[in-house]
Parts: sequence; C-alpha cells; structure tokens
Amino acid sequence: MTFLRQDTRPVKVGNLTIGGSDEVIIQSMCTTKTADVAATVAEILRLEEAGCQMVRVTVNNEEAAAAIKEIKKQIHIPLVADIHFNYKLALQAIENGIDKVRINPGNIGRREKVEAVVNACKEKGIPIRIGVNAGSLEQHLLDKYGYPTPEAMVESALYHIGILEELDFHDIIVSLKASDVPMAIEAYTKAAEVIPYPLHLGITEAGTLFAGTVKSAAGIGALLSRGIGSTLRISLSADPVEEVKVARELLKSFGLIANAPTLVSCPTCGRLDIDLFSIANEVEEYLSSLKVPIKVSVLGCAVNGPGEAREADIGIAGARGEGMLFRYGEMVRKVPEAELVSELKKEIDHIAKVFEET
Ligand code: SF4
Repeated sequence: MTFLRQDTRPVKVGNLTIGGSDEVIIQSMCTTKTADVAATVAEILRLEEAGCQMVRVTVNNEEAAAAIKEIKKQIHIPLVADIHFNYKLALQAIENGIDKVRINPGNIGRREKVEAVVNACKEKGIPIRIGVNAGSLEQHLLDKYGYPTPEAMVESALYHIGILEELDFHDIIVSLKASDVPMAIEAYTKAAEVIPYPLHLGITEAGTLFAGTVKSAAGIGALLSRGIGSTLRISLSADPVEEVKVARELLKSFGLIANAPTLVSCPTCGRLDIDLFSIANEVEEYLSSLKVPIKVSVLGCAVNGPGEAREADIGIAGARGEGMLFRYGEMVRKVPEAELVSELKKEIDHIAKVFEET
C-alpha cells in the first residue's frame, strides 16, 4: 500500500494540518541568526507576504531558543525549530511556544532525554519532524549498505519513527532529503509505501536560484505527480522568498494551490511585433503579490492569442505596436503597446477584486 497525501495521518502544526488531505503546505527557512529577533521577524514577514505558510528557524544556542517567544508574538504562521542533538534546546524551544520541532530522536542520546522531549511535545500538542538526510545517515546504516541508498534512508526514518512510536507518540512528519534527485525520488516513493505519516518533500542543497529550481522541480514534481508529499521546502542558495515563489509555481503546475494567479505567455517567434518578454516579466512580477486564482494570458500575436485569451480571465494578443485586450474571452478594445502593461494591471486589479468579493 502506498500512503498518498490524502491517506496520511493528519498532523496539527499550529493552526495548520499537514497530511490527511490533498493540500500541500509551503515552508521555507530563515537565513538570519535566530537570536536577532528584528531581522528574523522582518524576513518571516516577507516570506508570509510571498505565500509561505510555515517557517523554520535554526535553534543552535540558548539565545536562539530564547528568541522564539518574541518572534512568535510578531509573526502569523507556525514556527518550526531546527535542532540537532541538543535536547535542552528542544525543551527550551517548546517552552517558548514553538509549533513544531525538527529533531531526530535517535540522535538525542539517552532514553530519559528522548522521553523528556516527547513528553514536552505531547503536553503542548507539538509534532516532531524526523529529518533523514542522505549526507548524514547513521553509521550502522552506512556499515550495512556501504553508502547512502534510498533503502538506507527509509530504514533510518523507520528507526527514528520506531523510537517515537515506542513512546506512544504519533504526531510525526518525515523528510528523506538527498541532493541526488533520483535517490530522493526513490527514497520518498519507498517511504510512502511503508510510512503512514505525512512526508515533507525537499531536494537538499539543490543549488542556486536557476539550477536549484530546475532540480527541485524535477524531484519534487515527480513526487507530487504521484500523490506523494504533504508539505515541501524548495532549498535554494538564494533569498528564501525565491523558495516560496518556486514552491507556489510548482504547486500551481499540479493544481495543488487554490489562491495563486497563473500567467500564460508564449515563447515568441518571428511573428512577434511587440516587446513581449518585458511585458510578460512585468505582469508576472505584478501577479506575484496577488493571492487569487486569476488567469492572465500574454500572447505575442493573433495566431494563438485569441484562443488562449478565451481560456483566461484577462489576456492580450499583440499586434504591430498595439495589443488586443480580452476579458473573459471577449475582445474588449485595442490598446497601444506603451499602455498595455498599465491597462492590463487595471484589468487584473478589477478581476482580483471580484475574486476577493466572491
Ligand atoms: Fe509566435 Fe504568435 Fe505563437 Fe507567440 S502566439 S509564439 S508570437 S505565433
């Protein structure tokens, strides 16, 4: 049996539920020092604005754990603490109001320490994410398999899950990240066959904005298309806002996001008579701040323009120095090229308002 996202156990994280439905939650991670509350909050607010639904911060010292209390007061989405090994930091983060802890129970140490973290989580209703990473598998698995493999990753996840289940703890989310795309796909696919908990998708250390986007889309896209994954983070060596933008675009490709605008634009060819690249880029930038499912098409000429525009809420088809403006499939007027973007923005605002009111 494969646990597709709607079949996984629903796990509450703050005001969100991960798993148990077709919804896929978008996460990102702060690049700031967590102890710097002002900088961390500013980054989280930018992430929220971009559509991030949950954010992780590193909790690598007591100052970071202490900062959680103040950060929580100033943000609006669930906050996740990323903790390695140190159970005291986990306890402090939980005490300070964290919504989820990312820690591997098998790395905490003695059983009393694991129990202390699990009991604190139980008391506050906080889930634990087990984060398996191909680059840091347990030595006994490396000894058994020789090197990181999808099977070793799943075995590692089951090992950590077993520790939590033994303590009757089931609010679990699991990730199995690798920077090798085929390995990540295989690990998550195998995990979905045996792990009933929601899976957090990610291609780790994917790279820069361009290469990392392609790599993440290839790996995570393959999994999403199979119904696997209830939450995701795109890992980029870039402003984390870009991670959220990529995540939204990716979910849009699979119809897994309800509040995102779509831009259809043509690749252009010799028939083009307007500066379509800059128009498309400007419109895309404008749409990126909207949280409504508006569909806009920007086509270079009348060959496909009217057809595409008919499918869109608003669209243009270019002509020599001007564009035909379509609204809900009907040509409404011709607009000079210099005014196309501003006219489109006005139309977009109008339609977005209609969406917001309905
Ligand atoms: Fe070329 Fe027109 Fe098609 Fe754009 S819509 S690719 S300009 S034929």
